[in-house]
Amino acid sequence: MEDPLWQSWKFIVAAVLTTLLVVWIVARWRFADLVRQRENLVIEVARQTERIQEQNDALEQANRELYELSIRDPLTGAFNRRYVFEHGIRDLGKRRAERLGYALILIDVDHFKKINDNYGHATGDEVLRGLAHALDHGRDSSAVVGRIGGEEFLVLLGPLTAPVALRQAVALQESIARLRIAAGEARIPVTVSMGVTVSLSHENLSLEALINRADQALYRAKQNGRNRIELAVA
Ligand code: GH3
Ligand code: MG
Ligand code: MG
Repeated sequence: MEDPLWQSWKFIVAAVLTTLLVVWIVARWRFADLVRQRENLVIEVARQTERIQEQNDALEQANRELYELSIRDPLTGAFNRRYVFEHGIRDLGKRRAERLGYALILIDVDHFKKINDNYGHATGDEVLRGLAHALDHGRDSSAVVGRIGGEEFLVLLGPLTAPVALRQAVALQESIARLRIAAGEARIPVTVSMGVTVSLSHENLSLEALINRADQALYRAKQNGRNRIELAVA
């Protein structure tokens, strides 16, 4: 008597082959699926990396803008008092370590109260903006200009001799003389007084002491008729 069909070797071989074929098809399908998933993941990671990079760039830009705002005077765009003092203390210390001197200029607008009284506070503000602009254009590229009070500016010149510092003060004065701020038909006359000082390297003066010395020179400039430059040295 013959074996039943399912016990014949042909059937068994066919069954094994069919099973192997099914396993192979399923494995192929699963593998293709995994490859697709992996590709999708790679694309997603690239997309997320790009998004994070964009967010980082935006954050860095915002930080730069915030920092810029934190060191600027909002009215004139010049450096603010805190920045110019911090920078001055750092710079002075560095120059002293290099055994170099240090020069700075203190500037005060002449009769600014009258400008406000005659033309209004908004025009006074316009004058301050114009002044900051003139100082920025007249300065040497390494000089740092800050607004340290209502109508007072400090210019840090760095390690210069007195004659060179005075020449720079004259250049600033000439730049201010070119300033044109109109009130109606009239041109507002704007002049400043300047106190220039130079610290010699062995003096070991603090920035505050240097500014006080420049202030004495500035006071003399006011006393001697304004629209002048006076020098104070050791
Ligand atoms: P001097 O020549 O002796 O320096 O006289 P001055 O009038 O310039 O000096 P004073 O210190 O008497 O007046 C300074 C004026 O500056 C008084 C104040 O109202 C004005 N001021 C201070 N800050 C600002 C500002 O941000 N905008 C305007 N428009 N005026 C200001
Ligand atoms: Mg003043
Ligand atoms: Mg003044």
